[in-house]
Amino acid sequence: MTQTDATPKSVAKRAREMRDTLNRANYLYYIESAPELTDAEYDVLMRDLRELESQHPDLLTSDSPTQRVGAPPSSEFAEVVHPVPMLSLSNVFDEDGLRVWHKRTIDLAEVEAAAMVCELKIDGLAIAVTYRDGVLERAATRGDGVRGEDVTPNVRTIRSVPLKLTGDDVPPLIELRGEVYFPNTAFEAFNREREEAGLPTYANPRNSASGSLRQLDSTETARRPLAMFFYSFGYLEGGKSPTTQWEVLQSMRRWGLPVNPWARRVETIEDVAAAVKLAGEERPTLDYGIDGVVIKIDSLALQNLLGSVGRDPRWATAYKFPAEQARTRINRIHVNVGRTGNLTPWAELEPVNVGGVTVRRATLHNKDEIERKGFREGDSVIIQRAGDVIPQVVRVTDDNKRDSSSVPYVFPEVCPACGEPTLDTEEDAAIRCVNAECPALFVRLLEHFASRGAMDIEGLGERLAQDLARNSIVKRVSDLYELEDRLEQLSELEGMGEKKIANLLEGIEKSKAQPLSRLLFALGVNGVGSEAGEWLARHFRTMSGIQSATVEQLLEVDGIGPVTAQTVHEWMSLPVNVEMIGQLERAGLTLVDDSPEPPRDHPMRGLTFVVTGTLETMSRSDAESQIKALGAKASGSVSKKTAYLVAGASAGSKLQKAQELGVRVLSEDEFGRFLDGDAPPEDAEN
Ligand code: NAD
Repeated sequence: MTQTDATPKSVAKRAREMRDTLNRANYLYYIESAPELTDAEYDVLMRDLRELESQHPDLLTSDSPTQRVGAPPSSEFAEVVHPVPMLSLSNVFDEDGLRVWHKRTIDLAEVEAAAMVCELKIDGLAIAVTYRDGVLERAATRGDGVRGEDVTPNVRTIRSVPLKLTGDDVPPLIELRGEVYFPNTAFEAFNREREEAGLPTYANPRNSASGSLRQLDSTETARRPLAMFFYSFGYLEGGKSPTTQWEVLQSMRRWGLPVNPWARRVETIEDVAAAVKLAGEERPTLDYGIDGVVIKIDSLALQNLLGSVGRDPRWATAYKFPAEQARTRINRIHVNVGRTGNLTPWAELEPVNVGGVTVRRATLHNKDEIERKGFREGDSVIIQRAGDVIPQVVRVTDDNKRDSSSVPYVFPEVCPACGEPTLDTEEDAAIRCVNAECPALFVRLLEHFASRGAMDIEGLGERLAQDLARNSIVKRVSDLYELEDRLEQLSELEGMGEKKIANLLEGIEKSKAQPLSRLLFALGVNGVGSEAGEWLARHFRTMSGIQSATVEQLLEVDGIGPVTAQTVHEWMSLPVNVEMIGQLERAGLTLVDDSPEPPRDHPMRGLTFVVTGTLETMSRSDAESQIKALGAKASGSVSKKTAYLVAGASAGSKLQKAQELGVRVLSEDEFGRFLDGDAPPEDAEN
């Protein structure tokens, strides 16, 4: 998008930074289920960006997080295109905001008054469940609102979700929407168990609901006591169409779906304010997290008339509860090593009651935050419970007094779990441990190494990874390939009979044939996802090539940025990692990339493609693999660098963006011919 004279460069830069931060936060929140920002911080940043974009409309891009919901689906699940987009909700934070929303809404609808339905805003994740002839057919996450992930087997394990609807008025085809959540008491018990088992705990019930529902193995989801409340429908075919939201809730109840009992139908905005107050009072007594109240115009005809703006329907809004704050003291500052190796500081507090919960520890986010806010041991501080469960230290109190023993906090330069030096990249705030043998990282790493998208070792799941690590049977991933020497120890583990051991060894043996790109991904180097694994493998062709590459050489790989280049370089140079790769080589793993060299003269070579919509003759990931095999790049988002957009059926926002940017759009047929070496007409002339 072009910049007008009215928008200074510094503002454009700030907007870009805010967009980047929000996009990364979305990824961590929706895909990784491990957010680094609190919800309140996220909300403030989003509000600021909206404001900036409204003052400088030329800064508004169609891929701005203010225009989009959530995050695109992760490639680990099959993609579902939502026939009716799953939107987000606008927010209000106080009664004034609520009144402004209400007035604007009834003015727009040109009515004097309109009945509304107030519902608790369940803090979980939105799921769309399709029932055909009353039978559960498909369940999908919201994803980016247009495309979600197919999580049918996982949703089928949720006991409160009926596999079959009851009643004689169920429409032949209906897509119902609701929120999957993790009940609070079950969450606490679940986290305690994980802690005792030495597994990383989840920050709050929402993240664990999202993490649990997005397990690749549905037997793992089944072990977690998720529940669901339904609150709307996406579309229906046949049957009688409801006319109000209230009727929708009643019908869903009749059909045997769990609907939150708190919902109420009200007439005035005063009634809404009273309902919000009541919900706030009842909140501590509920066994599920709520982060506000959703207010919806009851009449579906009015809803239709009002429509939506960007990602938010105009006919509804969410009244968000404020974070609860309290004053206390930081007794000590500690540092934890998280699952990706990030060192996260936290404060041991003088215990204090915040909204009915005794808080003893709170997060300090990262080293920069401690420096920026000047937190020291002994300081008197304001803490808050935000996003509901992880409390955070907000600031030092205005009247904080320090005595002569108070000193600025010095962040450890070595990993507190293994004592190896940590890596502090300049480009992001995280300080991380890159020692592959660090005990804190190791269980997660082992699990990741064996996972389906990585080395795909059947029989090696979360439990076994933990047993192998805790009993020191496997101290680094390469030890897996020497398990035959440790059969006795292996057979002493719970549940490891002869057959299981044989299956495991077979799975491990098979994994030796995984291509180099997968191995690179499996090693869990920060920043090296499955795509980066492929780029590195294709560029360098051998593990030893990557090992001896300088940061500059790594930067030559398309798609690899400075942070990842530096991390890869450090990782590859660490003696323990060098030794481990030696062990993998001796075990006979594939350390060269033997995929065929892309043909030198193919017309697609070097061009960037984006594939969108549903293709008839191949899946999107097949199309992308073929693009890559021809030496071209497959990207997830349309930009000026995109040479062609391949648009299948029901292509949405990417198609629109391509048209805006003047990117050439190919039909599936044209793309097929291009793959065969026939460039589309205009290019053939060049
Ligand atoms: P939202 O959570 O503010 O509101 C929309 C969602 O509310 C719906 O998609 C649905 O899932 C849910 N919902 C719950 N009960 C409902 C009901 N009765 N009726 C209708 N919907 C109901 O919007 P969002 O787009 O899902 O997420 C944005 C919010 O998520 C942010 O405001 C922030 O709090 C949080 N977030 C946090 C981070 C982070 O890094 N901490 C990152 C991204 C998002």
